[in-house]
Amino acid sequence: MAQETATEKKTNPIVKFLRIPENYPDEAAYFWGMQCGACDAKFLGARLACGKCGETDKLSEVKYGGDGEIYVFSVVHQTVPGLEAPYVGAIIDLDDGVSIRANVYGLDPEKPDSSWFGKRVKMFTEVTAQDRDGNDVVAAKFKVQE
Ligand SMILES: [Zn+2]
Repeated sequence: MAQETATEKKTNPIVKFLRIPENYPDEAAYFWGMQCGACDAKFLGARLACGKCGETDKLSEVKYGGDGEIYVFSVVHQTVPGLEAPYVGAIIDLDDGVSIRANVYGLDPEKPDSSWFGKRVKMFTEVTAQDRDGNDVVAAKFKVQE
């Protein structure tokens, strides 16, 4: 009979398309998704069928890099209790061809500027919360590239 041991604390991603390697944070977390072998369309996370051509048998998993640029942004002034506002929320076009909604750090939300459109950003991750089982929850965020 197996002896019961203390439950090991896990590290879980806040979204399913963020993958946390076993030896995180020594090995960086990354976005992943599926690419269609028929039409080359790319998606974040798991899919059963291609959203562009409908193919179901030619989807394969791909790893995405964390570099991209701001497509559009918004300064958010009101949020839920416990989260700091204002902050900069953006849709980011990753260099690998998918887009993601995330917060961007390194920009002053009090001074939004049109020069932010197209600004180069880089993904980073951090533990932002603990779930009810005490596991760390890791979120992906972006910061302005130097
Ligand atoms: Zn397709």
